[in-house]
Amino acid sequence: MTGFPELCATTMDRDLASFFARVTPDDVRRAMARSMPSADDFLTLLSPAAQGLLEEMAQRAHELTVRHFGRTMQIFTPLYLSNHCTNRCVYCGFNAGTGVARKRLTMDEVRAEGETIAASGQRQLLILTGDAPALAGVDYLERCTKILRGMFPSVTMEVFAMTEAEYARLAAAGIDGLTMFQETYDPVLYERLHPAGPKRDYAFRLGAPERGCRAGMRVVNVGALLGLSPDWRREAFLTGLHADYLQRHYPNTDVAISLPRMRPHAGHFQPATAVTDANLVQILLAQRIFLPFAGITISTREAPAFRDNIVPLGVTRMSAGVSTAVGGHASDDNADTVQFEISDHRGLAEFSTMLRSRGYQPVYKDWEPNAHVAGNRP
Ligand code: SF4
Repeated sequence: MTGFPELCATTMDRDLASFFARVTPDDVRRAMARSMPSADDFLTLLSPAAQGLLEEMAQRAHELTVRHFGRTMQIFTPLYLSNHCTNRCVYCGFNAGTGVARKRLTMDEVRAEGETIAASGQRQLLILTGDAPALAGVDYLERCTKILRGMFPSVTMEVFAMTEAEYARLAAAGIDGLTMFQETYDPVLYERLHPAGPKRDYAFRLGAPERGCRAGMRVVNVGALLGLSPDWRREAFLTGLHADYLQRHYPNTDVAISLPRMRPHAGHFQPATAVTDANLVQILLAQRIFLPFAGITISTREAPAFRDNIVPLGVTRMSAGVSTAVGGHASDDNADTVQFEISDHRGLAEFSTMLRSRGYQPVYKDWEPNAHVAGNRP
C-alpha cells in the first residue's frame, strides 16, 4: 500500500506546469461538476485557467458546504500556554534565536486563562506551545488539559510532533483534536526553513497527523503555511491530497484543513511569495469541491472584511476573540510574548453578530465528550 509520504514524494516530482498548460475553462467546469472529483480534477481547479471561473466555483462550493454543514460556523479560540522553543524556524517569532520574552503558564495561570476565556462564552479551545518538551512537554500538556477540560467540552492542540503513544496518552487525558501544519511539503525548502531543532525531521512531522488518527484523535487538521513556498498551488494540492488520504484511511476521524497565510512577526523573514486574496479564495474553493466533507479553518490572521466575505464559500471553522500572547486573555502584561500579529481583533459577541447578519449560525459546541475522559464534568 502506498503511504502518504510516497504520494507526497511523487507529487513533489510531478511537472505541474505542463499539466496546467493543457487545462481549458471547459476542463475546469467539468471538474467542478463531478460528484467525486479525482486528484487531477482537484489540480484542474487549482490551475491558472480556473482563476477566471472563481464565481462559478464559488457557487458550487457554497452549494456543497450548505448541503453538508448547513449555514453554520464553528468558533474556537487559541490559548497560548508557552512560547519556549528549541527550534529555529526562520519564519517564526518564537524561534529560539529571537529576543522575544519567554513564558510558560503555571497551573494557576492556566486556570485563570481558561476561566477568562470560558466566561466570554467560548466552548472550543485550541491550546498551543512552542517545541520545548523539557519545559512544556506531554506531562505539562496533560496537567493543563485536566484543568481545562473542566471548562471546555472540546480542547484541541497545536504543538510539536509526537509519537503515537504520546498522542494516545493525551487523547486519554481529554485532548480531542490535533492541528499539525507541515509548513511546506517541499523537503528541500523544509530543510532550509528549519535549520536546527527537532522540527528539522521532515518525515517525523509528515507522519504526525496519521499517528494522531491512529491514536484516536477525533479531529485531525492539516495545512501548509501559505507564502513559505513560491509554489502555492503545489502546497495547496498536497494539503488536499493529505486530507483526502487521511479521510480514506481513517474514516472515524474528522479530517480538516487550515489555510494559514504568512503574517508579520518578530524577525525579518519575508514570505517567498504573496498569496493574494484571490489565490486564497481559489485554494479554498478547490479544496471544498474536492473534499466536500472536510472542515476548513480560517483564522484571525485574515482581515475582518475578507473573513466576512468568505463565510459562504466553504469555511466551516473560524477563530474569534484571539490573543497570540502567552496568557494574553487573563493578563495584559504579556504583550511581548506575541507570536504574530492578528488582523481580526473582534471578540466572540461581535463576530457572532456578523455571522447572524449573514444568515449563519455560530456554533460554540456541537459534541459531548466521553464520560470516562479525565477532567470531564459530572
Ligand atoms: S513555528 Fe513552532 S516550532 Fe517553529 S520556532 Fe515557531 S513556535 Fe517554535
